[in-house]
Amino acid sequence: MAVKGLGDYDEGNIFAKILRGEIPCKKVFEDAFSLAFHDIAPQAPVHVLVIPRGKYISLADFTAKASDAEIAGFFRAVGTVAKMLELEAPGYRVLANMGEHSGQEIPHFHVHIFGGRPLGRMLSET
Ligand code: AMP
Repeated sequence: MAVKGLGDYDEGNIFAKILRGEIPCKKVFEDAFSLAFHDIAPQAPVHVLVIPRGKYISLADFTAKASDAEIAGFFRAVGTVAKMLELEAPGYRVLANMGEHSGQEIPHFHVHIFGGRPLGRMLSET
């Protein structure tokens, strides 16, 4: 179900549990600022999520409250993961859902990295 992506951070969200090691993930990369892991329900041959370690709900929340080092570290991690997965030459897509209209389900800021096949149009018609 879509979340509003606003308000207080929910410590019980799935990505918070993954960061605390309470539930497993298929890790791709981690550093001081970020964790990247395979999506549990992949929508492309490559579907990886990159999340900051800090407690941020949305892109606006992240960019308003995170330190410069966290923001730089997070976006570097996204680029590093795309390179690690050899997506640069064939191309890939980075997507972030924010709030109800986007269908955001997990209220912890994250980006999706999709690749491994031609990805079609930018937005679905529905
Ligand atoms: P979003 O709709 O942008 O909030 O995306 C949430 C994503 O998290 C979806 O693509 C889910 O398949 C994925 N997801 C949910 N639970 C897990 C989990 N335990 N491990 C990995 N990915 C998950």
